[in-house]
Amino acid sequence: MESIASHSYEVHLEDLAQAALQQYVAKSSYSKVFLLVDENTKKHCLPFFKKKLNVSVDHILEIPSGEENKTVATCMKVWDALSKNDADRKSLLINLGGGVLTDLGGFVASTYQRGIDFINIPTTLLSMVDASIGGKTGVDLGTLKNQIGVINQPKMVVVFPEFLKTLDQRQLTSGFAEMLKHGLIKDEAYWTALRNISDLGDAASIQRSIALKNEVVMEDPTEKGLRKILNFGHTLGHAIESYCLESPQRKTLLHGEAIAVGMILEAYLSHELKGLPRLSLEEIKDTFLQHFDPVVFDSNDIDSILALLRYDKKNSHGNINFVLLQAIGEAVTDVKVPDSLMRRAFAYYMD
Ligand code: NAD
Repeated sequence: MESIASHSYEVHLEDLAQAALQQYVAKSSYSKVFLLVDENTKKHCLPFFKKKLNVSVDHILEIPSGEENKTVATCMKVWDALSKNDADRKSLLINLGGGVLTDLGGFVASTYQRGIDFINIPTTLLSMVDASIGGKTGVDLGTLKNQIGVINQPKMVVVFPEFLKTLDQRQLTSGFAEMLKHGLIKDEAYWTALRNISDLGDAASIQRSIALKNEVVMEDPTEKGLRKILNFGHTLGHAIESYCLESPQRKTLLHGEAIAVGMILEAYLSHELKGLPRLSLEEIKDTFLQHFDPVVFDSNDIDSILALLRYDKKNSHGNINFVLLQAIGEAVTDVKVPDSLMRRAFAYYMD
């Protein structure tokens, strides 16, 4: 596997990752190296890290797993542990985990003593192809997703698809939603290839997704324009994810599961407003429903989800901005959508 040059850091896959990480840490003369894990990555990924990566770590810090722990309260504990263990501005934090851990660890590092270096070692499919790449770090505010955070690039991302062996199927499929998104927004041939794939964690596809995300991030690291296309499916998807998190009677949806619903809904909006062909819309719906169980929403659910849209970070001057598709592989940004059409999108999804 080759390496992928990125905005201000490098992404290394498999064989090259090990050497790149060792060389980088050895030459950087950090005062202390901290490793952040959760209870699952401690059990499943730390043994590989210790055996194969040969990076000397001074302190291992552990946080509890789960979106409900992606909070400032968890950050406080990590900042505290860094401080108690004498982390200074020349310390390094290595994040070993899924998107929750890399988002939170990146934010902790970016703000501790006004910023220390961090490296991401993603251990879920979603964090390999998406969350660990591109420098968006942060935590949730209550149930509102990613409301607190900064854009700050890691020093390096090292990707070992090997970690996926212990990931359960539901988590793997959740990550696959973001890979399908990469095809939908930028590469029709990749979308078609993914529709026919049997191994969701195939290393070549992981590499293609990382490259696609990097191309976008390199052109627009701070999301002034092109980077917005990565939010396809996320406007309604995030609102659905937040709604399920705050409704104890509902099953919590994983991030990829929520944005899979969001992508079907936003494909419908794309058909109505931007001319996405009907056949493409149906292909998108069929593909996601092959991988993800349908979710049922009643009219109260839909009211609450639409109310949550006002917290979306893509809003400006009170307008909700959508990313839609003109065609598979061609996204357009900053589209305003009337509420009535969003309700029709839910009806189409559940039809
Ligand atoms: P996650 O981080 O919650 O990980 C899923 C579960 O798998 C956790 O219980 C974790 O402990 C466990 N786990 C991790 N690696 C494992 C392994 N190798 N074997 C066994 N278990 C393992 O979920 P996720 O899907 O990786 O990430 C979701 C988060 O990513 C969301 O908070 C989302 O907002 C964020 N995200 C961020 C970006 C970004 O650009 N920063 C992009 C997309 C998503």
